[in-house]
Amino acid sequence: MAVYKIIELGNRILRERAKPVPKITPNILKLVDNMAETMYGAKGVGLAAPQVGVLKRVITVDAGDGLIEFINPEILKTEGQEIDSEGCLSVPGTIGDVVRAAEVEVRGLDRRGKQCVIRASGLLARALQHEIDHLDGILFIDRAQNIRKI
Ligand code: ZN
Repeated sequence: MAVYKIIELGNRILRERAKPVPKITPNILKLVDNMAETMYGAKGVGLAAPQVGVLKRVITVDAGDGLIEFINPEILKTEGQEIDSEGCLSVPGTIGDVVRAAEVEVRGLDRRGKQCVIRASGLLARALQHEIDHLDGILFIDRAQNIRKI
């Protein structure tokens, strides 16, 4: 496994739309594994492939209850609203308050290519929405209020 370099605000890749993964190949599994290692190495809650310069619809998230890997994730349902502070490995030293759905239902493929649906709330719901935004070139600072340096 290897740790990728995380690209930061100002790099145009972060603003592009990532492409769906048509087939889970050994290279995709390598990407997922390296993304997880990169995320843990950077002490992040989540990571999206565009953040390591790969325009594919792949995310990894660990909100404290174990690693979730999603390929081609999509939000099926949202419920409620919650505001909380958020940061991003690609926008270091910055946080802001972002309104997100309080609960989400997300569908995507796991590493075996099996269709999975998870229902999440709290930090996991927030992280999933944040990472899926990355796949569409959206950064949390686009949605945040009270953006501040830390
Ligand atoms: Zn981010």
